[in-house]
Amino acid sequence: MVDKKNLRTPIVSVMGHVDHGKTTLLDKIRGSSVAAGEAGAITQHIGATEVPIDVIVEKCGNPSLRERFVVPGLLFIDTPGHHAFTSLRSRGGALADLAIVVVDINEGFKPQTIESLQILKRFKTPFVVVANKIDRIHGWNPVPNASFLVSYNKQAEHVQQYLDNKFYEVIGELFNIGFNADRYDRIKDFQHTIGVIPISGHTGEGISDVLMVLLGLAQKFLEANLQYDASGPGVATVLEVKEERGLGTTVDLILYDGMLQKGDTIVLGSLGEPIQTKVRAILKPRPLSEIKSEEKFQQVDKVIAAVGIKISAPNLDGALAGTPLRVATAETIDKIVKDIKQEVDAVHIDTDTMGITIKADTIGSLEALVNELKKEEIAIRKADVGDITHRDIVEVSAIEESQYSVLVGFNVKILPDAKEKAQLSNIKLFVNDVIYRLIDDYKDWIEEQKELSEKNISETIVKPAVFQIMRDCIFRQSKPAVVGVRIRSGIVRTNTEVTNSDGVVVGKIKGLQLRSENIGTARTGMEVAMAIEGPTVGRQIKEEDILYVNVPERHAKILEHEISDSLSADELEALDVFLDIKRKDNPFWAK
Ligand code: GDP
Repeated sequence: MVDKKNLRTPIVSVMGHVDHGKTTLLDKIRGSSVAAGEAGAITQHIGATEVPIDVIVEKCGNPSLRERFVVPGLLFIDTPGHHAFTSLRSRGGALADLAIVVVDINEGFKPQTIESLQILKRFKTPFVVVANKIDRIHGWNPVPNASFLVSYNKQAEHVQQYLDNKFYEVIGELFNIGFNADRYDRIKDFQHTIGVIPISGHTGEGISDVLMVLLGLAQKFLEANLQYDASGPGVATVLEVKEERGLGTTVDLILYDGMLQKGDTIVLGSLGEPIQTKVRAILKPRPLSEIKSEEKFQQVDKVIAAVGIKISAPNLDGALAGTPLRVATAETIDKIVKDIKQEVDAVHIDTDTMGITIKADTIGSLEALVNELKKEEIAIRKADVGDITHRDIVEVSAIEESQYSVLVGFNVKILPDAKEKAQLSNIKLFVNDVIYRLIDDYKDWIEEQKELSEKNISETIVKPAVFQIMRDCIFRQSKPAVVGVRIRSGIVRTNTEVTNSDGVVVGKIKGLQLRSENIGTARTGMEVAMAIEGPTVGRQIKEEDILYVNVPERHAKILEHEISDSLSADELEALDVFLDIKRKDNPFWAK
């Protein structure tokens, strides 16, 4: 049996698509005891809520469980606006010890949730899936706050059937992403099978089951990880770096090991050298009973893991969400600085000299985004953590290459002044909380740009064509010469120059007629009357001469190297013939 004294509260993150019911579920778990300052009530932290074991056991409706569980309670990270719990690390693993993945049973998994599941898999974080909103099922007869099975057994058969169908769709989706899953009450081995619990955040049905399974997972998988040293130096993960009025830059963090005291020397991760500073104040939310007070926070001198707190200290500006924070002493500081630098450097963020600019909410999510972009061979000029600021926009809009005048934000906000500036500039912004959406949107945009510029080019560029003056078809000798021609390949347009087979310009096409009608272009195979300004028939041109559209050298280069894919077979043939003529005298022409 593990010594209870040294077990800290497991940290639980709640993930899932927006509107699938994370906040409602957390509110239900918190229940009404938030307000009360009474013993055993839940405690509000910064960015987290702690629910003590007594409250959980009571909610499970089985006091005898108290003896079975040794963890002191559960600490729920409860800032669901903060999407990237999954990328919050602690010592290379996930910060959260456990997770609840919420899915609307009527809608199934959305891409963001699937990404979260994959990250949980990578970090081997134990989790449960809750299939929420069962009360929305047609004909559902709620039994408020009952355990799922009690409620399920009271439903009509066709309602049960409908729920089962929806439920197995969720199981099937989990299977497709590589998880064995089953209804929680049928699972013997939670190590190899993911428990899925149908619930309603509204009616409270199934909530007790969620808490039971979480405690079970904590007990079974985490005991060893939850051992901590209450008097040891504090170890934390930065949740958020925030400006607070009157306090300057502050850092919200989850302390998951040891102790943190006012005046402690701390080391924090940043993109450059780790920050070394001293804790000026440790802040907790004021209890609700004192909320009338002017100040949102109350100061404390000391905290012990696991807690969510805010600290103020000098020089916090470069601090990064998702990086470690550790308490140091004169003896340990050098090693801690080195370790933290290594930990942050281990997050591979290689940048290129030219490329797009990216921002993400934490160092972990930035790394995930960089990895995915690299897989797609998308060049990155700069990668940074934080919301999109006015300065980012100014910087990116100074980039001339339009394909790099792009800012990609993952899980970040666009600050209001940045939004205004972006609207006035020509930069392209992509913001999303699903990595693969960002990448798809960016790729679609690049493709669109390419097509547009090809279209622009092909509209302005002179294309090659070959035509022949037909026999007995001289209608006028000169000024302009009017002759019948047959187009052998390519498309002939008016106002383009004509060369002979020595590459010498002989005149300019002034007009084209087909059966006495003026036309702007003539295609392969057509026989038309052509007015050519410049030559006199019998001198510069004569019957049966083969003539060519004179493609300027710069256009020839673009045709050959950039848009040859968009040329038709006979245009390509005309280009080849024309290049041969030009390169007879000058092998480097248009190269
Ligand atoms: P979040 O964005 O994941 O935090 O989702 P919320 O908890 O804010 O819920 C989104 C919406 O779904 C709100 O209108 C909730 O009232 C509603 N909702 C959440 N859980 C349930 C549920 O179990 N049943 C029903 N009918 N509605 C729910």
